[in-house]
Amino acid sequence: MPEAPLVEPGLFRASAMGLLRVSAFLFSAKSAVGTDLMRSRCNANFMSERVLVTGASRGIGRAIALRLAREGFELLIGYRSNQGAAEEVMASIESMGGSARLMPFDVSDRAACRASIEGEIERAGAPWGVVLNAGITADAPLASMSSEQWDQVIGTNLNGFYNVLQPLIMPMVRLRRGGRIVCISSVGGLTGNRGQSNYAASKAGLMAASRSLALELGKRRITVNSIAPGYVATDMLEGLELEQALQRVPLGRIGQPEEVAEAAGFLFSEGAAYITGQVLSVDGGMA
Ligand code: NDP
Repeated sequence: MPEAPLVEPGLFRASAMGLLRVSAFLFSAKSAVGTDLMRSRCNANFMSERVLVTGASRGIGRAIALRLAREGFELLIGYRSNQGAAEEVMASIESMGGSARLMPFDVSDRAACRASIEGEIERAGAPWGVVLNAGITADAPLASMSSEQWDQVIGTNLNGFYNVLQPLIMPMVRLRRGGRIVCISSVGGLTGNRGQSNYAASKAGLMAASRSLALELGKRRITVNSIAPGYVATDMLEGLELEQALQRVPLGRIGQPEEVAEAAGFLFSEGAAYITGQVLSVDGGMA
């Protein structure tokens, strides 16, 4: 009686094909990782990449710009109108031996965003990374919220996502060098907050938009993540009732802009190359 083959020929072909596919996959994964490792070895190359940070003249954006400049990135300092503050950030970066350029535009103004971004791409090509940080509040209980308060907050915080990123995506993809996008959302987008239905909606929308973009750009090695800060000591907290706010914070204190910047610095590092579509809370345990 003929011996039964150890492996059915069809099955063998299937597993051989499988093996081929696995080794092709491993090879491509290895070369992708290899490319990333090579990048970190040639730090000079990686670190001379440009990064646009919107709202970099003050607060959290300023701290992120300084943090990324310390890593060697060239900075594009986005801001709306506070030129003195933006110049101060640029001077600080230059005094550390870094390189920065001012990029004033209103993220809620679609045409202004496109003009400014296309001008920068024409000048020096697409930036490698973007931190979408510019944001505002205009608080009121919904019953007394004006349509302007609703529109301004959605127009800046959420429409800014489209206005800034849409003109940048294809030029970033065409670079074929991967990239990083980080959106600064808020704990309010996760938990909601009284008097902030406009703000919470804009920040929840930002997280959902980031997750979707992460799915669209994964194959291009462009990661897209959000950071959701809690209370952070910036101009935005003016008028906050501190004692009441602190009751919501398990760590019992307000955060510092530099603590949010650390998270952004991590998401821009080589070590974060395999993280995308995530929300990183920096909120003292609030969410
Ligand atoms: P700040 O008010 O300190 O700074 C806001 C920055 O955004 C400034 O650089 C400002 O530019 C810029 N900006 C505002 N509106 C526009 C616009 N329409 N176009 C371009 N730039 C604009 O804010 P924070 O640093 O506190 O906040 C930064 C981000 O972090 C925001 O998205 C905010 O929602 C988020 N966040 C903040 C928290 C906090 O407790 N501080 C908590 C959770 C999230 P200019 O100087 O020219 O006015």
